[in-house]
Amino acid sequence: EINTYFSQVANEYPASGIRKMFEIAAQYDPKEIVNLTVGEPNFDTPQNVKDAAKKAIDDGFTHYNPNAGMPALREAVAQSYAHYNCGYQADNVIITVGALEALTLGLLTIVNPGDEVLVPDPCFPNYLGQIMITKAKPVTVPVYEENDYKIQAEDIEKAITPKTKAIILNSPSNPLGSILEEEDVRAIARVVEKYNLYVFSDEVYDKIIYDGHKHFSMAQIPELTDQVMVMNSFSKAYAMTGWRIGCLLADSALTKRMAQIQEGMVSCVSTFTQVAAIEALKGPQTAVQQMIADYTRRREILIDGLNAIPGFSVKKSPGSFYAFANIKAFGKTSQEFAEDLVREAKVITVPGSAFGSMGEGYMRFVFANSDENLKEALQRIDAYVKKNY
Ligand code: PLP
Repeated sequence: EINTYFSQVANEYPASGIRKMFEIAAQYDPKEIVNLTVGEPNFDTPQNVKDAAKKAIDDGFTHYNPNAGMPALREAVAQSYAHYNCGYQADNVIITVGALEALTLGLLTIVNPGDEVLVPDPCFPNYLGQIMITKAKPVTVPVYEENDYKIQAEDIEKAITPKTKAIILNSPSNPLGSILEEEDVRAIARVVEKYNLYVFSDEVYDKIIYDGHKHFSMAQIPELTDQVMVMNSFSKAYAMTGWRIGCLLADSALTKRMAQIQEGMVSCVSTFTQVAAIEALKGPQTAVQQMIADYTRRREILIDGLNAIPGFSVKKSPGSFYAFANIKAFGKTSQEFAEDLVREAKVITVPGSAFGSMGEGYMRFVFANSDENLKEALQRIDAYVKKNY
């Protein structure tokens, strides 16, 4: 509903299809429902990180700190990218309120009103609203199941116009579970170079990768490092979604400007949270390894389980904790099918259409959930399908 007193952004900011499913599920007793919608680890933050935060509060890390982040954390983030071999130093890093603020800050620094920004379709829906805030225009690039859900260089090229300024890439992908291998990134890099695009590389799932696949970032291509902004987060890898801390790596001339914009937006990220983030990066990584081992098993449970139900066709996700299931055989829109599953099977999922028009005919399942919950959801969906199809 349009309110003429409100700004255009307030009136037009897109509503999230994921929230819509929550609203539908809210009509039921939460104990009755298996919720496979929430895109966050079902683990608690590692103990060493929690302890570091508690100690930091007692030690007085409770004041403002520099806009760009604590020097020790910027340094630790830069070091954690040593394997990129692209020379990132502390001054290439900004600490942000999650990857979400990193992306908003990045867009504000690069994009002008009227510029076109390419986004994959399907994609993480928040990209669209963030682009709207900058008054730029999102232009979608279709991503196809036949290509293993990997965005293709030629599809990107088809979407380019004289107004195209930038592209958002996301590997491993939410919601697709796909990853771009080095050869895919290099093919896209040729288009990026040809049209001189700026690249926002959302890499929040870079540690959540299976079967020996390898993460490769466009920032690792030396000629392109300065026109790529890498966004990352402590949310997913360290089960820290509620702490709201992420980071961004870019050319130092840009990070300098961003630090000034950051001052007006949030001033800085909470100081004791940053101390805890240093511990996350530099402390033992055993909790991360354990989470990956659990996700690996849960990926098998969910995807094999869905494929055993007639009508579902699901590719094994090489990264992230999402499976994008083809449900075209059921002959319903993804929204109808998702609502049926809540009503009849008491399982909430997200319809593919919530991630873009190319998501129609698909559903996103999250396997960051307990083995028992996943098995229970599968049984319920199986019973529902057997009864109705
Ligand atoms: N980017 C992608 C692809 C995501 O899936 C998410 C969270 O779901 C984010 C960014 C946001 O991460 P953060 O919690 O760091 O803001």
